[in-house]
Amino acid sequence: MSFTRWTDIRGHGVQIEALLRVCRGQRPSHAYLFTGPASVGKGSVAWAMAAHLTCVAPDERTGACGQCRSCHAIQRGEHPEIHELKPQGSFIKIEQVRDVQKPLRYEATLGRARIVLIAQADRFGEEAANALLKILEEPPKRVFFLLVTSMRQKILSTIRSRSQEVRFGPLSEEDIAVVLAEQGFEDSDARQAASLAQGQLDRARTLCDPNWMEALDTIVSAVLSLGSGNPFAVVSAVDTVGAAVQGLSWSEQPVEETDVIIPTASLAEARALAKGKAPAAPRARKSAAKRRGWPPEALEWTLDVTRAALRDALLASVGIPSSQLSMARHQQALSALLERASSKQLAAALDVCLEVDRSLRLNPNPAALLETTWLQVHGRLTQVV
Ligand SMILES: [Zn+2]
Repeated sequence: MSFTRWTDIRGHGVQIEALLRVCRGQRPSHAYLFTGPASVGKGSVAWAMAAHLTCVAPDERTGACGQCRSCHAIQRGEHPEIHELKPQGSFIKIEQVRDVQKPLRYEATLGRARIVLIAQADRFGEEAANALLKILEEPPKRVFFLLVTSMRQKILSTIRSRSQEVRFGPLSEEDIAVVLAEQGFEDSDARQAASLAQGQLDRARTLCDPNWMEALDTIVSAVLSLGSGNPFAVVSAVDTVGAAVQGLSWSEQPVEETDVIIPTASLAEARALAKGKAPAAPRARKSAAKRRGWPPEALEWTLDVTRAALRDALLASVGIPSSQLSMARHQQALSALLERASSKQLAAALDVCLEVDRSLRLNPNPAALLETTWLQVHGRLTQVV
């Protein structure tokens, strides 16, 4: 249990305002479905709503008062009228739904309502989902269901149609940076992590971990040094970054090795660029060797970092002060890049990275794709435009 008030939540102003009105009103719906990306605070919103609806003396602005017997029970982590449903193993099972169903017949006495809070509402087994549906068809009085999911597509349409859906978007970089700073992270670390977190707080927190920070610094340094020296340096930078990202713990397992032939650029492209020629058409080569050890998410992340670093360089080149940049920690390398490359060149380099997303869907050899991308970036940064 997590005692949360509306004012504890950062971001989602529109949704919170609407839910506050609902909680203050006479007739809230019996079921709400909170959908949106993972780790943006949907769970906290559900807890704030649970605390508000059960609180004996709710406050206009904060929702739960924090002083009454109901609020105290949540703070102790043992509110008998807030029932949490969580997957046991992979799924929420029918027995769990039945266990929750029994007490719903009795009126709430500690607080003003009973709450069923379902944190991973996409994880119902079929029988359990049908049992829940039956309850939602004839909901008991003063019982509120709060369902939370980041996988809206997996929620049965029959459950969706019996709930009020509230959609959440990603958190803003600003909000994430403020939360991280409040939690004691260095301001520059917080801003850098926030810029790469895609609106997800957990992701940003992970990026503040020293191991991730170190890998991030390795990538940013490599990106900011593109366009200097020899294209061969790009190839060895990809190897260095490969070693750095493979040392991190990724949620997904590395892809299995395969022997498929996939198109890729290589040293030939580097040599062509070194001689000042346009790179040759991509060749095909076996992927197994280079593919080893690169987790699938690692490439996507490395490309995100590449884009963020180049975007910062572009912003800096048009006069945005470094205090507003997410990569401000790398001031020296950033200044050196600005001496080598113009805004036009940086914009062209950034375009390369924005286009690469399409190739990602083909599930290519990660190291080779990164190599190609960085070589093209290197090319744009050294080309006369
Ligand atoms: Zn209270």
